[in-house]
Amino acid sequence: MHLLEVDRISKHYGNVVALKEVSAHVDAGEVTCLLGDNGAGKSTFIKILSGVHQHDEGRLLVDGEEVRFGSPRDARAAGIATVYQDLAMVPLMSIWRNFFLGAEPRKGIGPLRWLDSAAARRIAREELRGMGIDIRDPDQPVGTLSGGERQSVAIARAVYFGARVLILDEPTSALGVKQAGVVLRYILQARERGVAVIFITHNPHHAYPVGDRFVILNRGRSLGTYGKSELDAQELVKLMAGGRELAELQHELEELTAELTRTS
Ligand code: ADP
Repeated sequence: MHLLEVDRISKHYGNVVALKEVSAHVDAGEVTCLLGDNGAGKSTFIKILSGVHQHDEGRLLVDGEEVRFGSPRDARAAGIATVYQDLAMVPLMSIWRNFFLGAEPRKGIGPLRWLDSAAARRIAREELRGMGIDIRDPDQPVGTLSGGERQSVAIARAVYFGARVLILDEPTSALGVKQAGVVLRYILQARERGVAVIFITHNPHHAYPVGDRFVILNRGRSLGTYGKSELDAQELVKLMAGGRELAELQHELEELTAELTRTS
């Protein structure tokens, strides 16, 4: 039994087959990477898991029980949090306000207006520190953070608000190597806290260092699921890219691995 399992899910948009019998799973304290180029079906996969769309065929299981999400609220109630690429943050608002923004009030705490702001600042700072993010001042506008740090705040927020499954939609795609390294480190932090992470990316070099398992999507179909011991980074790249500019990609991997080693 897995924390989250997708069993031969299919999804059509009219005549377009966006997903065809795709299977994947993730457990607590693991990272499953979902890789694929444009049009592979990654967004469709995320939307089904996060309750935005419904699948036509197949099963979605949480703790071994079949579920069907009618809305994003249903998915969140099941402990599935999605961090989208555009992040839904307000750049001019402070870090701590963004940390609590739009979050459903937690049981026993009450809505934000009853939360004293000193406590909110303290919680935001402590939670971020717990993820290894040292912010100088929680009143600092989110817009002054780097892209990698902003992603990390979004990840820390989801973990704080009780995500059991964290879906990350291309969190590193708009970032350079160094910033991507920052985000990858927080993915590892989330895993260490026992979160089940689904990391969506088109970059095998971002996936390989943090992934426990790799699912490769190609035009809506899965090319298979591979455990980390079943393939090395080069093989993952080949599966993904079909040999495209291997040397260049290899170079990026080496830089990233060095970055992760340096900062951990
Ligand atoms: P990815 O995120 O990997 O780029 P998508 O899930 O967005 O892939 O798309 C998978 C396929 O489904 C593509 O062929 C895309 O054109 C098609 N598709 C996605 N959303 C819709 C939609 N709302 N209506 C029709 N076709 C869609």
